[in-house]
Amino acid sequence: MGVNGSRTEGAIISGQGLVKTYAGMRALDGVDVEIGRGEIVAIIGPSGSGKSTLIRCLNGLEELDAGSITFDGSPVPPGARRQWQTLRKRVGMIFQDYTLFPHLTVLGNIVLAPVRTGLLTRSEAEARGRQLLVRVGLDGYANAYPAELSGGQQQRVAIVRALAMAPDVLLLDEPTSALDPEMIAEVLQVIRQLSSSGMTLVIVTHEIGFARDIAHRIIFMDFGRIVEAGPPRTLFDSPQSSRLRDFLSKIL
Ligand code: ADP
Repeated sequence: MGVNGSRTEGAIISGQGLVKTYAGMRALDGVDVEIGRGEIVAIIGPSGSGKSTLIRCLNGLEELDAGSITFDGSPVPPGARRQWQTLRKRVGMIFQDYTLFPHLTVLGNIVLAPVRTGLLTRSEAEARGRQLLVRVGLDGYANAYPAELSGGQQQRVAIVRALAMAPDVLLLDEPTSALDPEMIAEVLQVIRQLSSSGMTLVIVTHEIGFARDIAHRIIFMDFGRIVEAGPPRTLFDSPQSSRLRDFLSKIL
């Protein structure tokens, strides 16, 4: 176990000494994090504690002010375009607001990246896309447009779109926060399925019960730092810091 309770061997992605500043304020204030292959990590913490910034830095959506990222055993230096492109192909990202292209059909959204990057031919990508749509309960929606779908359905399409790239890691940034309550369950169900498929998942979430259920490890952040990390049971049943105790008392 590393300092933040991580597995030190077989990390697929890790960050060392990550610092990210916005207008002089440290959104990330020296974060060390390691995600093991096949590991499911849930990141929790108050709003503004740096959770989203952390996963955005892990896939290069945000430029770091200090620190470094290692992917699959190799450092990914700032400005190394090729290496960042490879990392982004292999690390999928799911956002709160699903960000599907409105002018493309469901299948058009799904095949875009695998075809553009040369990962799959169009017909291979369509075949994979259709299989994945069945897996998330959206058989028959291939030719629909995003606007014809509910929020929960659109988020499931966004998950399929990420999976179509066969990523090594999926980063999910509050994937259910923009959804109406009745749609949250259907999206959590898809993420739960993924969690039992061996996929490496890092999920920022306010769904504490869900995080407790599926995660191997919980990371609690506050003020741009990892305050505590460990197995769900340890973290939730015996929080060590007053900040985590305070956070849990507010949300549970
Ligand atoms: P969380 O995901 O825990 O809610 P964030 O990572 O979104 O927290 O934000 C951490 C801090 O960084 C917050 O104070 C937020 O206002 C600030 N921040 C995040 N993104 C930006 C941005 N693009 N521009 C300016 N400030 C930002």
